[in-house]
Amino acid sequence: MEHIVIIGNGIAGVTAARHIRKKSNHKITLISSESEHFFSRTALMYVYMGHMKFEHLKPYEDRFWKKNGIDLRNSYVTSVDTANKKVLLRNSKGLVYDKLIIATGSKSNKFGWLGQELDGVQGLYSKQDLDLLEINAPNREICKRAVIVGGGLIGIELAEMLRSRDIPVTMLVRESSFWNGVLPSGESQMINEHIREHHIDLRLDTNLKEILPDNAGRARAVMTDKGETIACNLVGLTPGVSPSVDFLTGSGIALGKGGLFSSYLETDILDNYDVCVCVEQREALG
Ligand SMILES: Cc1cc2nc3c(=O)[nH]c(=O)nc-3n(C[C@H](O)[C@H](O)[C@H](O)COP(=O)(O)OP(=O)(O)OC[C@H]3O[C@@H](n4cnc5c(N)ncnc54)[C@H](O)[C@@H]3O)c2cc1C
Repeated sequence: MEHIVIIGNGIAGVTAARHIRKKSNHKITLISSESEHFFSRTALMYVYMGHMKFEHLKPYEDRFWKKNGIDLRNSYVTSVDTANKKVLLRNSKGLVYDKLIIATGSKSNKFGWLGQELDGVQGLYSKQDLDLLEINAPNREICKRAVIVGGGLIGIELAEMLRSRDIPVTMLVRESSFWNGVLPSGESQMINEHIREHHIDLRLDTNLKEILPDNAGRARAVMTDKGETIACNLVGLTPGVSPSVDFLTGSGIALGKGGLFSSYLETDILDNYDVCVCVEQREALG
């Protein structure tokens, strides 16, 4: 019986585990450092907005995994030893695999801004980010204004979340109109108006320059490239995501922006089959 180890219990890792189980009786171990059980990331916002509880985001009952012979490990993979076919785990014993599937998704981008590591500065990707948001922005008494950096889908979701608690929001968007790289200009203008109708202070053509600290090391304001200083208690960094593959450095698996894969999702390491949403393929598919 082969041991298949899957790193990442998001939709990619879980789908792989379910389909392998349907077709084989291999031993399957599913590892994630984020949460014990798979949950729907796309619905995270509804928890903050009070429409759902976190338990409601779990597509499967907790007993599903044991019943289907899928072992769960709640741990972070610090590195992969491809020579000895072993994944090394933080705070627990490593695991030896026959086949390894890497389904580790993405992490929020940070572009080296001064102040990006201050308290009160965060992205919106993980369950931990959601928990942090409850601390940084539970209400408008504690968070008098939030500044969101990035005019993408996650930025606008974060704006909607904060507005649901009546927290004033400023959005810094690099482009001259919201999502104009995707939408025709008329539609993009409509979205600008819609955002402003929802009392969001939308600043187009504006970049973050720096995040300013208070005496306690928390973000107190942002400075824009227009020379304005905007006071705030939360800075939401939402300028996109990049593949979560840092832990593969030194593993022998070739890395570009993400892991480099063939069109069959194999790495160069023989016997490693990798799956990842943010793959960087060597050859384009026809
Ligand atoms: C707020 C938000 C809203 C979204 N809304 C939508 C939407 O409406 N529609 C849509 O199609 N998409 C949406 N997306 C995108 C969608 O969620 C992702 O494309 C999808 O989750 C990717 O799935 P995945 O399984 O590849 O990775 P992920 O869901 O990122 O899962 C990877 C897992 O691996 C874990 N992991 C990473 N590295 C390690 C390690 N070294 N050790 C252990 N565990 C590790 C991570 O913690 C994570 O739990 C949204 C994303 C966000 C953040």
